[in-house]
Amino acid sequence: MTALSVRGVDKSFGSVRALDDMSFDVERGSTAALLGPSGCGKTTLLRIIAGFERPDHGSVSVDDELVTASGIWKRPERRSIGYVSQEGALFPHLTVAGNIEFALTRPERRDGTRVAELLALVSLDPSQLTRFPHQLSGGQQQRVALARAMARRPGLMLLDEPFAALDASLRADTRDLMAAALAAEKVTTVLVTHDQEEALSFADHVVVLRDGRVRQSGGPREVYERPVDAWTAAFVGDAVLVPARLQQGRAYTALGVVPFTGGEPDGEGTVLLRPEQLDLTQFTGAVGSEDAIIGDVVAFSYRGHDTLASVTLDDQPEVTVACRIPGNAGWLSTGTRVAIRVLGGAVVVPDGDG
Ligand code: ATP
Repeated sequence: MTALSVRGVDKSFGSVRALDDMSFDVERGSTAALLGPSGCGKTTLLRIIAGFERPDHGSVSVDDELVTASGIWKRPERRSIGYVSQEGALFPHLTVAGNIEFALTRPERRDGTRVAELLALVSLDPSQLTRFPHQLSGGQQQRVALARAMARRPGLMLLDEPFAALDASLRADTRDLMAAALAAEKVTTVLVTHDQEEALSFADHVVVLRDGRVRQSGGPREVYERPVDAWTAAFVGDAVLVPARLQQGRAYTALGVVPFTGGEPDGEGTVLLRPEQLDLTQFTGAVGSEDAIIGDVVAFSYRGHDTLASVTLDDQPEVTVACRIPGNAGWLSTGTRVAIRVLGGAVVVPDGDG
């Protein structure tokens, strides 16, 4: 069953075309991420789905019911939709209990069980009930905002960059916790984000947006491993894009001969490799290394769990590639001579912007 269907949605603000013929579906019970750079129309789209904004054209259906279309308009409060924004937007003058109760029916408020249930769902301790928003951490505030948004048991939850204002470690924890709470209640969720790691880890369906249009829609692995064009490849992760001569399933590149999948015809093209596919070893000029791809590390960025190194190739000094290696490779520094070995296959992507 389709929980959300967006069809041919256009929206302009003056001369700015925020959404341009936007269409996609989200299956019931699944988690979708709308992933795109700043200004690509993510928030506008979410506001149209929620009913805070009207599109110029197109339709929105929730649980197979048209809620926005030509001549059809269901008011936001009558749509079974929850919304959590970047700031959570808790009422500052109400306690945690007050904020959650605000969304409950009078009998539910009197009974108190639902508040306790919702608090447990977002893993907050009952001792927090009497606190005011300013007495909570950013992550706790977002969890209260989620509890409030879930109070009416919405069929669809919209999350507008709810982790963006949190620091890195809190962001991952809050994200996992909220994902678990939403999964426990089987709520279909649409997350808006410009953070590719967040989209790939949170969602089981990723819709990549650019300039108000859908670039690609698919599972996290699909968009990461088989991006539809070079722009998408570079937006969803670090990308090594190299020119290649394609011949009978093999790509002849500056990084050697690499198999590729996809059945593209023979000819010239561009292939994508991810930096984690480029294995580096310290080059010592060993005998038998005549065929090795050799280069110099020209820059590197240490990230704890891994290091991203830029390597310029001896044979083609105009080519510099990004290689990801474990963070504990203490031998690596600027100027280190390295040999590159390609792991796995490549994919062919259309050049440029696609
Ligand atoms: P961000 O990640 O920076 O929040 P976004 O992808 O959510 O960006 P939107 O906020 O939807 O993008 O904006 C899409 C485009 O529409 C932008 O060019 C923005 O300036 C414009 N826009 C959005 N809302 C309005 C408005 N109310 N009036 C005029 N222009 C608007």
